[in-house]
Amino acid sequence: MANIFWVTCPKCRGEFYCHTQELRHKGIKLLCPYCSHQFLDEESPRIME
Ligand SMILES: [Zn+2]
Repeated sequence: MANIFWVTCPKCRGEFYCHTQELRHKGIKLLCPYCSHQFLDEESPRIME
């Protein structure tokens, strides 16, 4: 089973998932597929793991 987490974009509130091993707690910015906003996982108002 894929190891993923869901994030909520702080700008448009869109939800999408990322691969945990690549992006969680890595200090790498996530790219929102809805509005192209870039943000860190810690900046997400909601995370589901
Ligand atoms: Zn967004």
